[in-house]
Amino acid sequence: MALIAIGQNRKMEDYLESVRRAGGEPVEVVVGGETPEQILSRVDALMLTGGGDVDPKLYGEARHDTFQAAETGRDDFEIALARAAVATGIPLLAICRGMQVLNVAMGGTLVQDIPSQVTGALEHSVPQPRAGNAHEVWVSKGSKIATLLADHMEDGETCHVNSRHHQSVKQAAKGFEVTATSPDGVIEAIEKPDAPFCVAVQWHPENFWRTGEFRELFEGLVQAATTAKKR
Ligand code: MN
Repeated sequence: MALIAIGQNRKMEDYLESVRRAGGEPVEVVVGGETPEQILSRVDALMLTGGGDVDPKLYGEARHDTFQAAETGRDDFEIALARAAVATGIPLLAICRGMQVLNVAMGGTLVQDIPSQVTGALEHSVPQPRAGNAHEVWVSKGSKIATLLADHMEDGETCHVNSRHHQSVKQAAKGFEVTATSPDGVIEAIEKPDAPFCVAVQWHPENFWRTGEFRELFEGLVQAATTAKKR
């Protein structure tokens, strides 16, 4: 069975169950344990999870008033994990903060506070985890997530998602494509087109493991991990 490393999180259950239901075996990894290289040498894929804000000094900005730090050590640990995963081509699914970590790790920047920095912004901080209709996202045709979520979209490009974030990708990192946006222009997914599987989403697909709305994202990761394992 493909081993999927999952970065630490205060609420692990949804991430663990999402991986299990997609046929993978989750491996929890925490700050202060093995090095990123040691971890990636013994797993088949990586998943980066939600959490607090990435320190903006890591992309050359001062902190906005709304800054809320993640757990001590997570920034450095997860940025190293993301860089190592991209460098080695190990399949990667990054969720919420994980998407922001991946983007900063690869040289991109973030919107630090959507309500005060995006004109005409929709409500992106909808606290209910399974409010699957917080806003819609427009998915780029031909992208990896368009293929994965084909059965979940209306008219081939619109998908409804939950939303629990006040930050988002601003400038996507070099080599990454924006593959979903909400109608206010907030970036909701990026992917690396030349990687076997390097996908990041701003919403929380892991909250739906009971009903399976976004199971295809986790199945995509586990399939890519299984393929990589056989090589
Ligand atoms: Mn959103």
